[in-house]
Amino acid sequence: MEQFHGIPVSPGVAIGPAVVLDDQGYSIPRCHVALADVAAEHDRLVAAVAAVARTLETNRESTSRRLGDSTGSIFAAQLQMLHDPRLTAELQRKITGSQHTADYAVSQVMHSYASALRRLNNPLLAERAQDVLDIEKQLLQQLGAVTHRPLDSLVEPSVAFSHNLTPSETAGLDRTKVIGFATETGGPGGHTAIVAKGLELPAVVGIGPFLDRVVVGTRVIVDGDRGIVILDPDQATLDEYERGLLRRRELLARLDQLADLPSQTADGVAIELSANIEFPHEVAACLSRGADGIGLYRTEFLYLSREDEPTEQDHYEAYSEVVRAMQGRPVIIRTLDLGADKMGHRPLAEYEHNPCLGLRSIRLSLKNQDLFRPQLRAVLRAAIHGDVRLMFPMITTLGELRQARMLVNVVAEDLEEEGVGCRTDIPIGMMVEVPSAVLMLDRFIREVDFLSVGTNDLVQYTLAVDRSNEYVADLYQSSDPAVLRLILRAVEIADAHHVPLSVCGEMSSNPARALLLIGLGVRRLSVPPQALTKVKKAIRSVTIGQCREIAERVMTFEAAGEVDMYLMDRLSDLAPELIPT
Ligand code: PEP
Ligand code: MG
Repeated sequence: MEQFHGIPVSPGVAIGPAVVLDDQGYSIPRCHVALADVAAEHDRLVAAVAAVARTLETNRESTSRRLGDSTGSIFAAQLQMLHDPRLTAELQRKITGSQHTADYAVSQVMHSYASALRRLNNPLLAERAQDVLDIEKQLLQQLGAVTHRPLDSLVEPSVAFSHNLTPSETAGLDRTKVIGFATETGGPGGHTAIVAKGLELPAVVGIGPFLDRVVVGTRVIVDGDRGIVILDPDQATLDEYERGLLRRRELLARLDQLADLPSQTADGVAIELSANIEFPHEVAACLSRGADGIGLYRTEFLYLSREDEPTEQDHYEAYSEVVRAMQGRPVIIRTLDLGADKMGHRPLAEYEHNPCLGLRSIRLSLKNQDLFRPQLRAVLRAAIHGDVRLMFPMITTLGELRQARMLVNVVAEDLEEEGVGCRTDIPIGMMVEVPSAVLMLDRFIREVDFLSVGTNDLVQYTLAVDRSNEYVADLYQSSDPAVLRLILRAVEIADAHHVPLSVCGEMSSNPARALLLIGLGVRRLSVPPQALTKVKKAIRSVTIGQCREIAERVMTFEAAGEVDMYLMDRLSDLAPELIPT
């Protein structure tokens, strides 16, 4: 049994056989060979290297002929790499010294070469890393190790391990085959974490190097509540986790009974409780758990979950499906928030050093109007089917808000001129997720119909901490007093102007933090579907007075750790059932 700690990002526990996906989505088990077979394994490697060398030479010749020597030299460089004496010696050492299979030796050695090149932080050398991985793939193909994707051949639901998983790769995981996952990289607020919650897959990220300890097919546990991965657990540990799973199922069944009860405090103050979704199919779970509406529809996942670019009609169909299913309940459609860790297949920006501070979100939409306009048209068209509201992400300046609103007007006029059915009078709001938006909120608020605080980004931009970076995960805290002050200020301005404000960042899905938000004056929360009944339970267990007391006390603290400790303490008094056991 071996245990690793990481960042818990999606609650729940998964127990099952391990499958390892590498960056390309294939798995190379860590296998050893008998001493007697070492020579044969070495011969397999030599044959694979010779075959790849022949292919590279053919490619070099034909490419040089068609496209000139400078393009053909890409393959000459790969050939040189393939014959690098250090590489050859290292591969031989893995096979003859450590008795690894040729497949595993190739995967290990080439990956560590590629990582070493990437660590040099030089864009040119990072490209060479890609060459190394290209050669690796070809060698593995020759060795017969990558003829299929491992998920396709799984016979029982498994726990997926990977160095990294992008939000779109996560969205593409087949839930009938994957029951949970863990990655070496990733931070607490990244979108991979958000998709994992949407898929209700227990997940741990940011573990650091551990994949070489995994033996494919052995039983493992991913504990998404505590951020623990256990390889090959002993019987006592397994039994304890099985009992925990049973308790969780019982708790969820009890919480499900709250679905149809109103979301209000014990003294009758209504707290609107909506859901965040990434995909239309999530609406069913929102309705069965009693969501008051969709408080955040992350539409960029329409781009991230498909190979081709969605058309206006694709947008329209997805939105209409959600709006119709919600039967008149409000649906807040957020315009594309592409960029940073959410990249589509079309390169929308040159290589950026700091993509979180770069051409992301509304900035990217305003610069790529061929992307933005079809989406706006689709939203106005889908609005005829229900209560649709439009929201812009990551608004930083008044200029951006005005430009975006102007584009909505232009698109509305076009649709009316074309005689296309649409609604042009829908409420328009903005996300409050950068400090400048809070600081200028008294101005922004005159030009919007509603506000939604995105704590995921507000934390990132207030504390200068990348939400997807495991190295600074300890700094990424929505309970940080600086963040709380910004939220309080936003609530006060919204109240003074009678503009509805909700909190849709992940912070609101934590029952204890939800009580704090209510104490700060928030009356609308939007949470992932799986958190709906949990948060409702917390709301129904307290009075507004108790929430205010919590907030008053919390605002005297100086550090996130103090805040969270106090909040857990209060939650265990007020709603002990919600404290994980
Ligand atoms: C947020 O930033 O809090 C938010 C809800 O948006 P996203 O997580 O999609 O960036
Ligand atoms: Mg955001």
